Amino acid sequence: MYIMPKLDYNYDALEPYIGKETVYIHHTKHHQTYLDKLNKILDSINFNYSISIEKLLYNIEKIDPSIRQEVINYGGGFYNHNLYFKIMSPSNIKEPIGIIKEKINNDFGSYDKFKKKFIENATSVFGSGYTWLVLDEDKLKIINTKNQDSPLLMKLIPLFTIDVWEHAYYLDYQNKRMDYINNFFELINWEEVNKIYEEIKHNLQ
Ligand code: MN
Repeated sequence: MYIMPKLDYNYDALEPYIGKETVYIHHTKHHQTYLDKLNKILDSINFNYSISIEKLLYNIEKIDPSIRQEVINYGGGFYNHNLYFKIMSPSNIKEPIGIIKEKINNDFGSYDKFKKKFIENATSVFGSGYTWLVLDEDKLKIINTKNQDSPLLMKLIPLFTIDVWEHAYYLDYQNKRMDYINNFFELINWEEVNKIYEEIKHNLQ
């Protein structure tokens, strides 16, 4: 079965931007439930779990159509949350560093232009979904997805994401989703994003 990656920080580590109760419920209830349901549906087809969740979603067409939508929903719910929790941290590095800084400057003009576009995208998500920074071939793009759809399904390579489902922010921000989206930029772990940039293509092979 797939297993829950360990959180690299305590439940209260993202305060004051995201509260302890939000992180606790989001991780131990929402995230955990997606994982449990994914394992259950994959067990039902005697899946051998020999490939990563990234590879499973990237090659979704290989999954039997009778369970494919459930794998998209629960596998996406598992993977998307893995990435969301992985790329946040209480780090003091507040702006891009390393290769990702170069790529952002190159593909968006500047960090400020990138940030503005990302915030516009995230604000425009209607209903439940995510905004992503992805690699399309070698170019960075910002995209939105609905529900638990993952960019991996579209052969795009995710670098980081913000979860804009209400459960991600409602306890802390109620209807003020814009404040949550703005504060998310205080939490991005740019060292981790660089690491993902270096490693994810390799992980899909
Ligand atoms: Mn969520």
